[in-house]
Amino acid sequence: DTIVLADLAKRMGIKASEMIKKLMMLGVMVTVNQTIDFDTAVLVASEFGYEVEKAAFEEDTFLHIEEESTPGAMVGRSPVVTIMGHVDHGKTSLLDVIRKTRITEIEAGGITQHIGAYSVKTSGGQVTFLDTPGHEAFTAMRARGAIVTDIVVLVVAADDGVMPQTIEAINHSKAANVPIIVAINKMDKDGADPDRVTRELSEHNLMPEDWGGDTIFVKVSAKQNQGIDALLEMILLQAEVLELKANPDKHAKGYVVESKLDAGRGPVATILVQEGTLRAGDPVVCGVHHGKIRAMLNDRGQQVESAGPSEPVEVLGLSGVPNAGDEMIVLDDDKSAKQVSEHRLQKQRSIGLAKTSRISLEKLFERMQEGEVKDLNVILKADVHGSLEAMSESLVKLSNDEVSINIIHAATGTVSESDISLAAVSNAIIIGFNVRPTPKVQTFANEEHVDMRFYNVIYNVIKDVKDAILGMMESTF
Ligand code: GDP
Repeated sequence: DTIVLADLAKRMGIKASEMIKKLMMLGVMVTVNQTIDFDTAVLVASEFGYEVEKAAFEEDTFLHIEEESTPGAMVGRSPVVTIMGHVDHGKTSLLDVIRKTRITEIEAGGITQHIGAYSVKTSGGQVTFLDTPGHEAFTAMRARGAIVTDIVVLVVAADDGVMPQTIEAINHSKAANVPIIVAINKMDKDGADPDRVTRELSEHNLMPEDWGGDTIFVKVSAKQNQGIDALLEMILLQAEVLELKANPDKHAKGYVVESKLDAGRGPVATILVQEGTLRAGDPVVCGVHHGKIRAMLNDRGQQVESAGPSEPVEVLGLSGVPNAGDEMIVLDDDKSAKQVSEHRLQKQRSIGLAKTSRISLEKLFERMQEGEVKDLNVILKADVHGSLEAMSESLVKLSNDEVSINIIHAATGTVSESDISLAAVSNAIIIGFNVRPTPKVQTFANEEHVDMRFYNVIYNVIKDVKDAILGMMESTF
């Protein structure tokens, strides 16, 4: 992992002599045509106010140097929203009513296309919605390193209240550090009881301001198109608090939110741009694929020439179909794009190394000793609520100066694939009590290297975790 000094200087837009001088001051002697290693590159780049990305550096053909985001270059960008909630609480209906009433009235006669995300214009600004509701897609993307969601709208049906998937959605959002806005839906129904919903949510630390909390609550009816404007307004208000910004004047970077192989058009991917501006003709790398952007279409099926931060576009011209959550970056030229994609393919063949470094009870003590681990994140699943409470209480009490035990999700029922995803992205272990996994879930856990354990006696759960913390695990196995 090295780079020729002259190249580094060129990419940073500074004189090689200046860089040599700076390096000398740092005690490193190099000449123009000599190479420096990654750590030195980072050091000297930071002296000039740049950040060097390790991953990009390792692509070795391409050094992606980002100008340290100077406030002047950053401009506000619109929020990206994912709708989550329990099944049948109205996620799809809400997405539909927002799309229909807020898009077609502006683009009269426009045909809306399902490309995986869409943007709506409001008087207060633009909002982008991801079209795949639910926390499964959210966490699957996060597992690939893509956190594209700025705000989660949690839909809870006023006549049904907080249900298991409502709680899952809350915990998945919290684990990703994404703020939640509550939309109490189906307010038109006879049995609507928003106070009950609020009460139940407050047990999960989501409280409206007049209850002393800081969560935004909005009452809506997707069916009767009520409260939708207020919801959009609140999303923009929350976005303002988050101060979402991006620099549109640089090579684009974005994430795949949906992809497919189209019989006529070849590989098609919807990209949500994160920063920079994506343009037709740009050479790109996307996952292990590359290409030159042949055409870009917006969510109304119209051809566009460019897409800035928070804008979703469908792109054509990739060499293959990428995965949702894959990153797309624009490079200087076709040749580097091709090289980087080949390099990534090679890396992919030599299997993911990152996965093997996940936490397990056996390795906990060792990693604590090395100072790598200070938190043990735990997901608890049990047949009955009482066991969950008993285990949570006892486990949390095992926290000491070296390690704190966090229950990031606890629910009744067997372990699901979504639990595995959450464990994988949160580096958590899963403890199942009086439940068994399906073979499919077991396979998924193995693939993701998630430590999953099953017990029938609470004492044994506590004992194993305690032993692990004290480094006495080995002796028990
Ligand atoms: P999802 O599973 O969360 O995507 O829920 P859907 O959007 O598919 O809605 C589930 C059911 O609830 C459908 O029959 C909808 O018509 C109905 N529904 C959704 N929103 C409302 C609402 O505001 N009021 C009433 N009365 N029904 C609704």
